[in-house]
Amino acid sequence: MLIYLLCALVLIGALIFYLFFYRSWWRKRQLQHPFPEHWRKMLKKRVPLYSRLPAHLKRQLEQHVQLFLAEKPFYGCDGLEVDDTVRLTIAGHACLLIVARNFSDFDGINSILVYPDRYRVRDMESDGMVVSESNEIRAGEASSLGQVVLAWTECEQGALHPHGVHNVILHEFAHQLDYLDGTADGAPPLSGEQARHWQETMTRAYEHLRDSLRHHEKPWLDPYGATEPAEFFAVLTETFFQQPGHLKAEQPEVYETLSGYFRFDPLKLTEYPAGSGNREVPPR
Ligand SMILES: [Zn+2]
Repeated sequence: MLIYLLCALVLIGALIFYLFFYRSWWRKRQLQHPFPEHWRKMLKKRVPLYSRLPAHLKRQLEQHVQLFLAEKPFYGCDGLEVDDTVRLTIAGHACLLIVARNFSDFDGINSILVYPDRYRVRDMESDGMVVSESNEIRAGEASSLGQVVLAWTECEQGALHPHGVHNVILHEFAHQLDYLDGTADGAPPLSGEQARHWQETMTRAYEHLRDSLRHHEKPWLDPYGATEPAEFFAVLTETFFQQPGHLKAEQPEVYETLSGYFRFDPLKLTEYPAGSGNREVPPR
């Protein structure tokens, strides 16, 4: 009888450890490995913002990248070979979003699919009466089930143009932060005063953007951000990291709200070397 009781206690103990402590224990073990020097060189080359970070955030980014690469499987689609350049470029940019936050923000991400180029998606839609089929070319997408899909040519362009309007990696991983509370509503999980302030500031800015488009005025943000609140947050995130000076000048309150959420101010970093660019990209 005693032996059964002991076995049951051991099993319960193992279950409690697995459910509540295993993940943090496993992550601590991963971080005991030194960060490979060739990864560091790759980050310098492929993630321009990395070199501008203060030392403590550089270290934090490296740790997040280390966990990201240890935990999240990458799958090459249509013959794309996933090498260190692909992995470090994607992980480095994705982890910028949480460089001053906890890695647990990415707990829900379970796979990264990478296509060589923009890819075609066939979609079926029904309004209850008629089923229509659409073919769309995409640069990337994110699913609430934790899957991120990216077109590698778009990832490369984003990495090459740190001042540019678009960065599909930042965009799709921003959607993943939005999904954390279970809904794609353009707001990551927030509470209390921060949630109320976010709601007011972002609603006002979103309506301002839509108004300026309705009146054919020059919009202060990529018009794709006006399609729905979820895209507004994703496009704002791209702009916050890539064109912070522009965003702060146009929408100072939005800038401060994002800076509070990301716990990070891109305007307080060292300057980039020369080089930037703007491009048109398809839905993402
Ligand atoms: Zn999007």
